[in-house]
Amino acid sequence: MSAIASSRESDEAETPGASIASDRRSRSSSCESTRNRFAARTLPAVAFLRELRPAWMADALCLEHPEVNFFPARGHSIAEAKALCGRCLVQRECREYALADDALVGVWGGTSTQQREQLRRASKLSEVA
Ligand code: SF4
Repeated sequence: MSAIASSRESDEAETPGASIASDRRSRSSSCESTRNRFAARTLPAVAFLRELRPAWMADALCLEHPEVNFFPARGHSIAEAKALCGRCLVQRECREYALADDALVGVWGGTSTQQREQLRRASKLSEVA
């Protein structure tokens, strides 16, 4: 390193701007360290939860369309969500998954919550008959 470069570095270190920049670098490094520690503790949990997801969810078309509302308020149209489901490669798997879990609400596999309730009832009736 040349003397000029060395002199410039020491000049910058004494200016308020350099001091603020230095503080920011130090805080940023501290935040990054905290973030890394947080990630180290939480990422395995996130990875574990992802592993619990059925594999077909990786091909869910709705993941690519966050603008479509699959959980519309009562009285609002579900046509857009159902149309998207109609083009989804995993619609059958999705519908079966939702039919197996009556706690799920919204549009799944091209069916509304009410439609899945009707399908469950119809299925129970056919089992009895
Ligand atoms: S069928 Fe519909 S709700 Fe299910 S994964 Fe495909 S787009 Fe999403």
